[in-house]
Amino acid sequence: MDVALATAWLRAAAEAVVADADELTKLDAAIGDGDHGVNMRRGFTAVTAALEATAFTGVGDVFVKAGTTLIAKVGGASGPLFGSAFRAIGKALPPGATVSPADLATALRAGLDAVGGLGGAAPGDKTMVDALAPAVASFEEAVVAGAGLPEASAGAARAAGDGARATVALTARKGRASYLGERSAGHQDPGAVSTWLILQALADVTAP
Ligand code: ADP
Ligand code: MG
Repeated sequence: MDVALATAWLRAAAEAVVADADELTKLDAAIGDGDHGVNMRRGFTAVTAALEATAFTGVGDVFVKAGTTLIAKVGGASGPLFGSAFRAIGKALPPGATVSPADLATALRAGLDAVGGLGGAAPGDKTMVDALAPAVASFEEAVVAGAGLPEASAGAARAAGDGARATVALTARKGRASYLGERSAGHQDPGAVSTWLILQALADVTAP
């Protein structure tokens, strides 16, 4: 992955969350406070603008910039969580204008760890972690098995989609949805869906 591909990923992720913002807000209205789509649209629109306004020499710098922008622009829980994830991804990457799939696997793991460290959610708590954790595991396994970036990314996106769909059955133990207790079951977690959109964007921009 080079700077152009990293930027293309984040731009595609921004397009996807903006296109689905109303749907994300609807999901959040069912088990949260109905602002997730608004938060994601605001944050990723600012990311797109920040990327356009900046010249990057290192791939990691692209992700640090995106993460810092999300933290600054989004008031909801998702801003600091996604923001910390992207910052951790950026900081975990080696310096330089290109990084390998193995570098990206390590960085994605660091992003997942940052979300867990900040929000304290584990898989099964009905959060973005339920999409991100299986996606990172899938990406790592693919890279270890010798897959290139397109194949590893496609697998990660599939795992994120499966994880996001599986949140329907779960009872929330973290975030606002946990206030509903068992009434949170039967609804898909909005942050897990945005996580899937972001990883699907990676699969889309890396597809051969
Ligand atoms: P808020 O909950 O502050 O209104 P958003 O609506 O933008 O923020 O984001 C809600 C999403 O954030 C949830 O669907 C969930 O995926 C994620 N989330 C909330 N709290 C946590 C947490 N502690 N750990 C991981 N993800 C969380
Ligand atoms: Mg909300």
